[in-house]
Amino acid sequence: MTATTPGLVCAHHHLYSALARGMPAPPRTPRTFREILELVWWRLDAALDLEMIRWSAMLGALEALEAGTTAIVDHHASPNAIEGSLDVIAAACAEVGVRVACAYEVTDRHGPDGARRGLEENERFLRAGGRGWVGAHACFTLSDETLEAVTGLAEDLGVGVHIHVAEGPEDVAAGERLEDKARESWLLAHCVHLDRDLPGTVLHNPESNMNNAVGYARPTRFPNPVALGTDGIGGDMLTAFRAAYLRLREEDVTATPETPWRWLETGWELFPEARTDEVTWSYEPMEPWHLAFTPGVRPLRVVVDGEVVLDEHGPTRVDAAEVRAKAAEQARRLHARL
Ligand SMILES: [Zn+2]
Repeated sequence: MTATTPGLVCAHHHLYSALARGMPAPPRTPRTFREILELVWWRLDAALDLEMIRWSAMLGALEALEAGTTAIVDHHASPNAIEGSLDVIAAACAEVGVRVACAYEVTDRHGPDGARRGLEENERFLRAGGRGWVGAHACFTLSDETLEAVTGLAEDLGVGVHIHVAEGPEDVAAGERLEDKARESWLLAHCVHLDRDLPGTVLHNPESNMNNAVGYARPTRFPNPVALGTDGIGGDMLTAFRAAYLRLREEDVTATPETPWRWLETGWELFPEARTDEVTWSYEPMEPWHLAFTPGVRPLRVVVDGEVVLDEHGPTRVDAAEVRAKAAEQARRLHARL
């Protein structure tokens, strides 16, 4: 039995984190969300070079494709390899045959020069015709001036801003700081501790929020469209959908799988072309009440933009074993730097 659907969309990913798995333990156990950033992610992103970025994106795109995800909204950070990083990610995804929209994470974590170079990478990539949003880390690592610059650049370019919002308690002031800035075109990742309504699409990342123990975002409280992401924990959106359902259900025993299914469908508003992609699945019917309780559903065939990019032998454009081997080699290099 098989069924087909459009390509799935991952509305919030960090492809660079594909090489994080198996990394050495941090120097001490992080006890807060801020410490998780400081002791894990901000050490990892600082160690990335363009070759590592390339193979993390290749691996992340491959794994997305193998899960029937044909479009990724990525959010990238590599403070010691900023220039050209978005091109590397876009090229890697194109090589595998997965659609991507990029953003470079502007932040003041590395001083005014780091913030300026982050802004320039967004501008360079988008002006050259790259697809994406202007990226920003989160209000708690952005000065007022930098936040103004991010907003101004997005307005100049006619795109939205892709930003983490109140992911942890450290960022509760985000709502107030963004109140007069956010627009419908913005992507608001997490919103766990958001204390007011902001315009934009809320990006819900249940697996990551649980992993970081930041709390439940309670996405049903928002009037906004809600889309599902992984925040870098792979590109398997049926798994993310199941996690979203279970976390919702834990909070509300009357909730149904139709609610997180709508969140999955919101991805097509961010990436309309994915609707024209075609995924043939190992299972039918592909509908929420089945999939909430059916792990292991896999694509048998994926067509992106009219081209078969995955068939019964695996990906057609790249050698999956080679991508995994190259990514593992880059992961070893990366882990040795930590
Ligand atoms: Zn994120």
